[in-house]
Formats: sequence, C-alpha cells, structure tokens
Amino acid sequence: MTTTQFSSKSRSQYKAKAYAAASAKSTLAPITISRRDPEENDVQIEILYCGICHSDIHTVRSEWSAMPTVYPCVPGHEIVGRVTKVGPAVTKFKPGDIAAVGCLVDSDGDCEECQDGLEQYCPHMTLTYNSPDVHLGGVTYGGYSDSIVVKEHFVLRVPSNLKNLAGAAPLLCAGITTYSPMRHWGVTKGKKVGVVGLGGLGHMAIKFAHAFGAHVVVFTTSPNKKEDALCLGADEVVVISRNTNEMSKHVNSFDFILDAVSAEHDINSYLQLLRRDGNMTLVGAPDKPHAVAAFSLIFKRRSLSGSLIGGIAETQEMLDFCGKNNITADVEVIPIQKVNEAYERLSRADVKYRFSIDMASLK
Ligand code: NAP
Ligand code: ZN
Repeated sequence: MTTTQFSSKSRSQYKAKAYAAASAKSTLAPITISRRDPEENDVQIEILYCGICHSDIHTVRSEWSAMPTVYPCVPGHEIVGRVTKVGPAVTKFKPGDIAAVGCLVDSDGDCEECQDGLEQYCPHMTLTYNSPDVHLGGVTYGGYSDSIVVKEHFVLRVPSNLKNLAGAAPLLCAGITTYSPMRHWGVTKGKKVGVVGLGGLGHMAIKFAHAFGAHVVVFTTSPNKKEDALCLGADEVVVISRNTNEMSKHVNSFDFILDAVSAEHDINSYLQLLRRDGNMTLVGAPDKPHAVAAFSLIFKRRSLSGSLIGGIAETQEMLDFCGKNNITADVEVIPIQKVNEAYERLSRADVKYRFSIDMASLK
C-alpha cells in the first residue's frame, strides 16, 4: 500500500515495541512497529496495562469471516497508561495524566451515529487494531505495545480512586460492552437479569447488574465458577448440564438476558426464559450463525438484539460509575512473555476473570 493513498504529507513517526501474530496459525512474538508522532489533536500514551479480550483471540486466529485479519496483527483494546506527549490542540490531557483507550480510535464525527454519541456504529469508525490506518498506511496496531498515539476525542479519563490500573484496563472493553446494553434495556432495581457465560465480559456484567440493583442469575458451563459467581454479586447460579430442571424453573421470568458466550451454543433455551416483552442481547460473537426458533420469540413478544461496545461519552460515564462504586475487573496480571499461554487458557475458559498484561515486561 502506498502512502499517497492516504496523504501526500509524509508523516513523522517513531518506533515502538509490540507483540504481534504473523499469521492465523502463529503464536504472538516481539516486533517493532511504527507509530505516528503526535499531531495537532493527538495524545501519546505510554501503555501500563492491556487486558486480553476474547476478541483478540478471534482476530489473531482470523475466526471472523466478515472481518479477515491483516498480518502482522498487534491486538489489544483494553488500554490504560500514562500520557507522555500531547499535540498543540489537545485540551483535556497533559503529560503525566493517567488515560485509557478502548476499542475505537477514530470515526467520521459527522454522521448520524457520531452526532448521537454512538461512534461505534459509525460507518467510518476505526478500530484500535486491524482497521485501515489513515495516518501511516497498513492497519492500526493495538495495545500489546509500549505506547500508542490516539486522537484526543477517543482517549478516556480514569477516575483517580481506581488505583488498581491492571483491573481498570478491562473496563475499556469488557466493562463498556456489558454496561451499555444494560443501560439501553433499562436494567434497574427489581429487574431479573440473566448473564450467560462467566468469562471476562460475564464477570463485569454480574458486577454492573448487581450494582444497578437487579436480581442476577448466572448461567455457566463451569461448575467450579459457582462460588465465584456468588462472590461477584450473583443471586443465583445455574450450572448448564444435561439436567434441564434447573433451567425450567426460570421459564418466562427474565426481564433481560445478556449472552456473553464466545462459542457456538443453543440460544433458544435462554429465549424461553424471558417474560413477555423481555429482551435477550447478544454480545458474544461466535462466527457461526445461531439458529433461532420463531416460537421462542412470538408467543411472548420477546426480542433478540445485539450490541457493540459503547460510544465514547457512555464509556466515560461507565468509568465514572466504576469510580463512584469502586468497580474494577478481577484480573490475573501477566508479563507479555506469557501471552501465548494466556491465549491457551482463555480458549479453555480458564481465567479468573481477565488477563491483564503488565506492559513494563516489554521494556
Ligand atoms: P471469555 O473470557 O473467553 O468468556 C467466554 C465465556 O463463554 C467462557 O468463560 C465460558 O463461560 C463461555 N463459553 C466458552 N465456550 C463455550 C461453549 N462452547 N459453550 C458454552 N459456553 C461457553 O470471553 P470474553 O472476552 O468475555 O468475550 C466473550 C465474547 O464476547 C467473545 O466472542 C468476544 O469476541 C465477544 N465480545 C463482543 C463485544 C461486543 O462489542 N459485542 C466486545 C467484546 C467481546 P462459562 O465457563 O461460564 O460457561
Ligand atoms: Zn474486547
């Protein structure tokens, strides 16, 4: 790709350390990448922690047929760090500030979605990794790196009382992806809420639903997560097994169910648990289409939706909510050298409940 496709102006850039996958079958390994020097509206951040989202694995392994991966791929969109430099037009950040970046680094700013503060649905939005990079060419590189340069509008403030920055990083994806649909569908005190899949997203969903005052029921395939689910704020836990009795006692009772499962599974058994006008929202993103029985929906006017992360203003609202309520993710902090082992464990649903990479290990 030639730079003239993007801009005739030659961009000044610097080298950054990162970890990348060279192909769908490769493990992640050290690489040197280029980052643009901060321009007019840019914030440069030294990355302190980056969470590992299951979307990182889907992307590294190119599991999404609609979004093939361009290699080398540097994943990571749960980023917390310290501001090192700002462009002359930046007003909200200065060197030394703690700042965060999630799944988005740009959008067109003037479409209907952007005007509504829903940049994640902008037809021209740029994802933090594996999107075309209009500045340097190639694709964007994510947070498994020692630094990143991002337009100010897409940089978030971390409330100062959230001292556990390793645990704050996952809020930037797992946090907002679960907070946003629960706000949209009116999860409040007294509502009955189901959470399907107790992984990184699922554990944040439990914390938020509990904080909103809902009655929370967790559905997990892992019997060993039952106690944890209760500690995280669940009121009831259903371990999915061949024994369907436990499921049937919840038929027609849920106001809202959030499905955060990363793999193929039967969603009809959950749709039947919704009450009249109840909603189930999918945030989990397996590539294979789900089979949906019309009868699961029509008799009780139930609805099935999807939701993608959240807009920038709502992400800041979620971070401020976490600050007020002292909410962070439960993390296992790892050095970047253990990232491939972490991917293997995450693929087996074996993490409590998010890996957060200590980026000092990259130095
Ligand atoms: P994760 O930590 O790996 O959690 C996924 C959980 O799904 C597992 O812990 C497991 O929970 C359950 N699970 C896994 N395989 C299963 C199977 N075969 N059958 C039933 N349950 C299974 O992943 P995550 O980071 O939370 O991400 C979850 C999904 O959300 C991924 O597909 C990811 O790409 C997607 N995502 C979407 C958005 C969005 O904007 N919509 C944002 C971020 C991530 P149990 O052990 O409790 O059964
Ligand atoms: Zn994510």
